[in-house]
Amino acid sequence: MDEASDRVQLVEVGRTSEGRTWYIALISDPENLANVERYREISQRLAHPEGLTDAEARVLAREGKVIVAIDGGLHSSETAHGQHTIQLAYDLVSEKDGDVSRAILENVVLVLWPSLNPDGQEMIVECYNSNLGTPYELASLPRLYQQYIGHGNNRDGYGLNMIESKASVRVNRHWEPQVIYSHHMTSPFPATIWLPPYADPIHPFAPPLINRTMSMMGMAAAQMLDERGMPGATHMGTGYDAWYPGYIDFVNLFHNVVIMFSETGLHGYATPRFYSVNDFPPEDRALNPGTLHSSLWRGGWWRLKNSVDMMLTASTATLDVAAKYRENILYKGDFRTAPLLFDNLRGFGSKTSSFT
Ligand SMILES: [Zn+2]
Repeated sequence: MDEASDRVQLVEVGRTSEGRTWYIALISDPENLANVERYREISQRLAHPEGLTDAEARVLAREGKVIVAIDGGLHSSETAHGQHTIQLAYDLVSEKDGDVSRAILENVVLVLWPSLNPDGQEMIVECYNSNLGTPYELASLPRLYQQYIGHGNNRDGYGLNMIESKASVRVNRHWEPQVIYSHHMTSPFPATIWLPPYADPIHPFAPPLINRTMSMMGMAAAQMLDERGMPGATHMGTGYDAWYPGYIDFVNLFHNVVIMFSETGLHGYATPRFYSVNDFPPEDRALNPGTLHSSLWRGGWWRLKNSVDMMLTASTATLDVAAKYRENILYKGDFRTAPLLFDNLRGFGSKTSSFT
């Protein structure tokens, strides 16, 4: 795509634990990519606003482009996100969504990670292909899909022991994206996808305006999913709270970054499954919609493509909100726009007075 399109630039970001060369793709209009260093500089300045006046911050927000980082996940047994990133790139570059795609290309610089754990993706594909058609088709990988810490690769957000974690932080601090979207796949069945608003509790250090924007993006994604005939999104619940600061994506919330996050439905790698309502938990069989679960999935076949299509839509909705609220989101990247945070922190601990 880099060779074929002036809307894509491939950038090498290092090597994985197993020594694979690792890339990200920058995707935007050719004029934006030609000036991408200027847009990076604006993001840097707003993220580190020492000495910047409010008026200067507003001028920068008017000029800048929202930098959104979307990744193909780091949990390799969750198999759709690493497939959706390539399709997302193609759909954007080829303007599959017409005006929506064009507005995104114009207002956003997408930092696209095909995968946050390329080694694990290779391991899972190899294992699955070798088991396909045998009684072990759905068997777990008999080793860790990250060489040292497996699934714990998403608990390394502050320890940064793995070279994958270090690469992720280095790239995030280089670009200072205003939005980071990390995909996962453990939807609270029979909901087809979980999206923000996050469950309670939220961390007292979480900037309130950023929390509000995360909720807005989650709701926008659910709405676009419904518009495109993919029902079953849910929010909040009890599983995915906004408290633990060690996730590789979520730790960025404390850098004033909007953390978009989802858990899409999955059944066994790429093996389809048919569900009837009788497969649902008893409390869900009455099919009663709720405020945070307004459209219901009623069963049927679930294939890898269902998961990929939901991710494509949720990623597109996130980019769409970033494009529509470009200036507002850039301005919120300036940490001083979080005065309510300081109210939340008052009385939290002896050091809070230094924030005010
Ligand atoms: Zn996951």
